[in-house]
Amino acid sequence: KEILNVKNLKVQVEDKVILKGIDLRINSGEIHVFMGPNGAGKTTFANAIMGNPIYDISEGEIYFKDKLINDLAVDERAREGIFMSFQAPIEVPGITVENFLKTAKTAVTGETQRVMPFKRELKSSMGKLEMNPDYASRYLNVGFSGGERKKNEILQMSILNPTLAFLDETDSGLDVDAIRIVSQGINDFHSEENAIVIITHQIKLLEKIKPDFVHVFVDGEIVKSGDMSLALDIEKNGFDAYKKEVE
Ligand code: ADP
Ligand code: MG
Ligand code: MG
Repeated sequence: KEILNVKNLKVQVEDKVILKGIDLRINSGEIHVFMGPNGAGKTTFANAIMGNPIYDISEGEIYFKDKLINDLAVDERAREGIFMSFQAPIEVPGITVENFLKTAKTAVTGETQRVMPFKRELKSSMGKLEMNPDYASRYLNVGFSGGERKKNEILQMSILNPTLAFLDETDSGLDVDAIRIVSQGINDFHSEENAIVIITHQIKLLEKIKPDFVHVFVDGEIVKSGDMSLALDIEKNGFDAYKKEVE
């Protein structure tokens, strides 16, 4: 079943054209990967679908579950089932992980979360991610390691249960254990009812996640789409061959 259908999407920031006409369809049950050199527009694409207001859609249509969502605000898109992890999560002293997630889930589902069932759900999700139970009562992101921040994003995703999730990996040097746990978390969450887009260069992560499609972004366009073999080719030969296709 089709979840996302993006037609000729053009996006600019402060009058600078960044995305130059992207077409992309994503069906439920699929995992897509975005690769491409820095500054190619991968994060911009995710932000534009999420509805971040600084990214100005100058042309094109975004259909989410057959509904045109170009004019929906970020919170409305979140309620529709779109999720984006934060590339640089901010520290929020005074708000615990548990309260943050409970508030977010209430906002996204429109249902007040009952204390004990929510605690149980959180505990179970944290257990799967091999997170220390104390973590729930720590302040959001304060003093978190890179691995903990990344796990926190996967935790957010599993608690909010979106239909379409963008995971913008910073490729911030996760150690092998963190890559294993994060990829397991992604695989646990993934089902025939949802779809995931992962922005990453880490071939180790991709080998564990087994994406259905890989798309190469260069200079605001998708210059090539393929399967996992495309990621392996890029790992071996870099982006040069794809850059030349643009010129
Ligand atoms: P990628 O994620 O592929 O590395 P980005 O989407 O972050 O690329 O950036 C694509 C281009 O858009 C870059 O030239 C970047 O400088 C520009 N850009 C992205 N976000 C902003 C912003 N908030 N303000 C100004 N320029 C931006
Ligand atoms: Mg699948
Ligand atoms: Mg990026």
